[in-house]
Amino acid sequence: MGKILSWVLLIGFVYAVMRLIVLFQRKSLALREARLRRDAGEGSGTGAAGGSSARGKPGAADSAVGEPMIACAYCGVYAPASEMLAARGRHYCCTEHRDADAA
Ligand SMILES: [Zn+2]
Repeated sequence: MGKILSWVLLIGFVYAVMRLIVLFQRKSLALREARLRRDAGEGSGTGAAGGSSARGKPGAADSAVGEPMIACAYCGVYAPASEMLAARGRHYCCTEHRDADAA
């Protein structure tokens, strides 16, 4: 009986150690990815590290990509959600149409 108990304890111990190793690997991997992403995002801040400045990302341009398009409640023109004017739960392409719909 004591032999079985020691085996169970040994297996449990090995299992716990393996779980810890997997968790540690996953954590260090996530940390490294986060650091890489942060370094890539900073760009112009620290240029002394190396010659990886070839990748230039237009930050302003991709703000409209992948954004939902909304139709103007007055004229029906579609535009990115961030460019629309919201009023009374409706969206408009310009102030003229917002004011015209309110009147
Ligand atoms: Zn409009």
